[in-house]
Amino acid sequence: MSSNKSVNFLIVGQGIAGTTLVHKLYEYGNSVHLIDNKHQSSSSLIAAGVLHPMSFKRAVLSWKADSLIPLAKAYYNSFEATFKTKVFHELDMTRVFSSMEEQNNWQGRMADSPMKEFIADNELSLDFPFGSGKVNTAGRMDVALYLNRSNKFFKEEEIISEEQFDYSQLTCFETGIEYKGIVAENIIFCEGYKVNQNPYFNYVPLNPTKGEVLIIKTKDLPNCILSQGCFVMPIGNDKYVLGATYDRDSINQEPTKIGKEELLKKLKNIGDFDFEIIEHRAGVRPTTHDRRPILGTHPKYKSLHIFNGLGSKGVMLAPYFAGELIEHITKGAQLSKEVSVSRYSKKHLHKCRT
Ligand SMILES: Cc1cc2nc3c(=O)[nH]c(=O)nc-3n(C[C@H](O)[C@H](O)[C@H](O)COP(=O)(O)OP(=O)(O)OC[C@H]3O[C@@H](n4cnc5c(N)ncnc54)[C@H](O)[C@@H]3O)c2cc1C
Repeated sequence: MSSNKSVNFLIVGQGIAGTTLVHKLYEYGNSVHLIDNKHQSSSSLIAAGVLHPMSFKRAVLSWKADSLIPLAKAYYNSFEATFKTKVFHELDMTRVFSSMEEQNNWQGRMADSPMKEFIADNELSLDFPFGSGKVNTAGRMDVALYLNRSNKFFKEEEIISEEQFDYSQLTCFETGIEYKGIVAENIIFCEGYKVNQNPYFNYVPLNPTKGEVLIIKTKDLPNCILSQGCFVMPIGNDKYVLGATYDRDSINQEPTKIGKEELLKKLKNIGDFDFEIIEHRAGVRPTTHDRRPILGTHPKYKSLHIFNGLGSKGVMLAPYFAGELIEHITKGAQLSKEVSVSRYSKKHLHKCRT
């Protein structure tokens, strides 16, 4: 850990939340230092990276998708231009219907605004018993590449320490914090589901969800994302991500036989394909009870902030809400009530060392 450094922001966690914050803070001319324990509990490294606007159960747009998606794409495109690294791939997405009711519902929605910009009839020649629909504006974000390329840059700039953050070494002052010789005006915690170990923000009631994915190899699937109870998404060289499971009971990062069987069963609902399993991964999503991100300032210590709760949609949410949090900290802009950390109870607050 570099010592005797003075920065505007110290960030804890280099997942998609922390990484996006650092790039945006840098862009606005702030000095930053970042601490990450080499992705020991990273949800972002496991993420399939699907970006799409739908909440399929009710055939409606997911929360704020029509404004969040263009913003996310613009942000990833600007990252690509700066770092000469392709991380976002536009892809067609096919919703495979599971019943006539779903097909009818889809057809009905196709005329509604703003849905009509996001869904359409499918031109894909694959034959499904109840047909299929097309989702526009979908794509795949290569989250691991985004993190790795960013990590390389942070090392070149000497603004990252790869170690476990030790909360007992944090001291809070009126105007900032000090941590192992680093003095910062602000610290933003982005630890994903491990926020439960953070004595300042462990009162935030995260409701984490374990997820598993398989990487399969096949020549039988089309070059688009297929969705029905699960998704299969091309990642190049005849490889596809098959995902994902949702488990609220076993919060750990171990791939399981049950998870694998569940995914293979779901794939069968889409069709019978010849494939080979290449890899099996598991991670824990930082999901919340109300499915909204969590951002804002500690109720007692004004230099301590949180950016978490990206749930199963980190790719879509991170760029917009990193911006909202920065505006809040640097310009005092009000956070939207539905994402503000102030929606949670203030009891159980830690007594900060001074
Ligand atoms: C199986 C699966 C599939 C998914 N698929 C998608 C998808 O297709 N599309 C999508 O948008 N989202 C997907 N997600 C969700 C996505 O991964 C999350 O929304 C997102 O990654 C959360 O990012 P984060 O930065 O908040 O947390 P994380 O990615 O968990 O990052 C936290 C970082 O902080 C580090 N850390 C924690 N504590 C400490 C400490 N004390 N000291 C130092 N470092 C620390 C961790 O090691 C990690 O590197 C998926 C998740 C899973 C598990």
